[in-house]
This record gives sequence, C-alpha cells and structure tokens, in this order.
Amino acid sequence: MMDVVIRNGRVVTPGGVFEGDVGIVEERIAALGEGLRGNAEIDATGCYVLPGAIDPHVHLQMWAGDYRSSDDFASGTIAAACGGTTTVIDFVEPADAEPLLSALAARRAEADGRVAIDYGLHMTIDAWHAARPEELASLPEVVAVGVPSFKIYQAYGRLRLDDVLLHRALRAVALVGALPIVHSENGPLCEELRAEALAHGHIDPCYHALTRPARQEAEAVNRVIDIAALAESPLYIVHVSCADAVARVESARKRGEPVYGETCPQYLTLTADALDGPHGERFICAPPLRSHADQGALWAALAGGALDVLATDHCPFTADEKAGHLDFTTIPGGLPSVEARLSLAYTLGVRAGKLSLERRVEVCCTAPARIFGLARKGHIAPGFDADLVVFDPEAEVLLSADVLHEQVDWTPYEGTSLSGWPRHVFSRGRPIVRDGDYVGQPGWGRFVFRERR
Ligand SMILES: [Zn+2]
Repeated sequence: MMDVVIRNGRVVTPGGVFEGDVGIVEERIAALGEGLRGNAEIDATGCYVLPGAIDPHVHLQMWAGDYRSSDDFASGTIAAACGGTTTVIDFVEPADAEPLLSALAARRAEADGRVAIDYGLHMTIDAWHAARPEELASLPEVVAVGVPSFKIYQAYGRLRLDDVLLHRALRAVALVGALPIVHSENGPLCEELRAEALAHGHIDPCYHALTRPARQEAEAVNRVIDIAALAESPLYIVHVSCADAVARVESARKRGEPVYGETCPQYLTLTADALDGPHGERFICAPPLRSHADQGALWAALAGGALDVLATDHCPFTADEKAGHLDFTTIPGGLPSVEARLSLAYTLGVRAGKLSLERRVEVCCTAPARIFGLARKGHIAPGFDADLVVFDPEAEVLLSADVLHEQVDWTPYEGTSLSGWPRHVFSRGRPIVRDGDYVGQPGWGRFVFRERR
C-alpha cells in the first residue's frame, strides 16, 4: 500500500513514455507499474507525469547595482512550483574580502525557511577571490558543504576574470572535482562598443543588442573552451544565445571535451526586434536577444544534443525599474520566465515538432540533475524523490502577468497562448500545486546537498 498513487498517466522519462501508475511512500517514489493502490489516489488519465523540473539558473532577490530582482526566495519558488519546477539553483555572490563560506551562510539565511521548493546554490568566484591563492584554497570547504559548482564571469566589472585569472580559477575548480559555470561574453569589448555608441548619441534599447554582437559571445565561448582545456577543467556555458556560440560548443564536444551548454526560453522564443517595441527597455538581458536564425540553431542544438539544458536565468525587474533611464546602459538586465519554462517548452517545442517529449524532460529535468549533482532528482524511478508533475497537455493558458505568480508586473510572454500546463505538482511526496493552485508552504523547501560524481 502506497501513501499516494498517481494513476494512469503517461509517464515520461528520457528513456521513453509508458502508461501506468507512480507510487509514493513518504518522500520518495516507491514503485512504478499498473494497478498500484494507495491511501490517496490521483487520476492522471490524459496527462503526462514528468519528473519535477529543475532550473539550475535563477537569480532571486539579487542585487544588480541599485536594483534588486523583484522575486524573493518565497515568491520566486512559488512561481517556479506553479510552473512545474521543484528545484532551483541560485547563486552566492561574495563581496570583496568576504570569505566564501561566510557569503554562503548569509545567502542560505536568506533562503532557508522561505523557499517553497528544494534549492541549491552555486558559488561565484569574482576577480578579488580568483586573484588570491588562499581564497582558491578554500574551494574544497565549499564543495564539502554541498556546493560543487562555481560561477565565473568573462564580463561585468568586479565579477570579470581576465584570461589569467580565468585559468587559475578553472584549474582550482577542476582540482576539487567541481564544475565551473561560465557567463561567456567579451566584457571589455562590449564596454568599448557601448562607449562608442553613447558617444554617437545612440541611447535606445536596440543598441544594447548591437553593442553585444553574437561574434563577441562566440569569441568568449571559444576562448574559455580553450582555457578550460589548458586547465584540464570541465565547463558549463550558461545562456548560450546564438548560432555562432553553439558552433563553438559543438566543435569542442566533437573533440571529446567535457563542455556543456545551456540556453533559455527567451533566446528560443523572442528576438532583438523586441528591443525596438513599445517597451523595448524591458527586454534588456545579457547576452541580448538575437535573430530568428539564432533561434532555429538553438532549437536544433537542444533537440540534437549540442546543448544540454534549458534553464531560465530568471531575473525579474519591474516595469518601473526598467523604464525612464537616460540611456540603455543603466537599465537593469534580466527577464522573468521561471514559471512558464516547462509549458513554453511543451507548446513551442514539443507541439511545434522541435523537441520530443523525452528530450524536453531530459533538458528541463534529468540533465540538470545529473550535471549539477542532484542525485535523487530529475528522474522517475524507485528511490528518487517524489518530485512529480502531472502535466495536462490540453490546459489552455493565455500568458499575462496576472495569471503568473512571479512577483513582477509584466511578462515577456504577454499574450502568448500555451496548450499545456501543470495540473498537480508534488515536492518530496507532498502536493504543493493542486488543480493549478499553489497549496504548499514557504519553508517546505530545503537546501539540497549536491555532489558531483
Ligand atoms: Zn544569470
């Protein structure tokens, strides 16, 4: 006898789709099969049963200059849950001279007791820390407390590592068996192009994209791939946005190098044209939105395996915070999409014939769990956490800020109609979304100790 049985669903894993029941005992999946009996039974006829999705790239209550992203650990994880995401991985950003472990403790204090779903953290290695051997020597202590991934930037002021620091940081991360995850853009070159644009009076949002062209991203991707090879380090490139960068990742993989790539819904569904629209300022994010041709390349890479993960880089700022700037360079960058990711991937990916059912589960659930060391998540099999989504492929949702739970007053997907939305969501066996309504409790989520094998 199970505690809960999800009956007659079409269970989707990267290995295939089968019709049957999923049995839950306490916090784990206990059995798969037919005719399972439980104290509570949920009819999933006509629905897909998916592993809870994992979003390994979110920025909740994150400071960006004078602005703080508008979703906090409670609202952001409730929104994630409503969209079928049961684990997020956020970031620790230590200040200069702040020990990594202190920064980690401070970030955990912000999240613990507030998160609606399980969460993990990546540690950021900025230029101050990368330049100090004694700081890099503390990486094993960070890994030892369940943080085996380190964020590294090739752009952005104090965060940016030059090639020498990049090499040192990658070597240190590889030495402790952890994974570097890299924001790959040529920062100094973008700064130069921005200054040039401003000097010519080019202040509109479209210049954000024009001053961060695809080839500078591809150049940075290519460079970090080579430096990672020299440092004998694996590599995960976040938010790959363009065909040129995909090509660099693909050729590294053809050489057999351990390079992973991620893209995000905004790069698959929006183009730089949005920057010319009535609220162009809202669509500023980095890397910037690209072209239709880039979208095609990204879908193909996600389907074909050249890219591994669909994450969001969720980083919302309100319409007011985005508006009224003298020029494009001071607008806080980032877009919300933590809630709609799984459904966007279904309607615009699976239904449009660009992604198989299995591949959608792979890129949204299973691959992030495997790559980031979430040993009991991202898969439907006995022993795994009962993080599950009953996904109704016929549910019609017209996206707008009103229907989403994200704490932000606009969405880049305003007016997009989706066919398919989560009906029920379970986190470690407990229903947190029932019939589309959030029924969980902030604080239910736990910090997940991650370990890379
Ligand atoms: Zn990010």
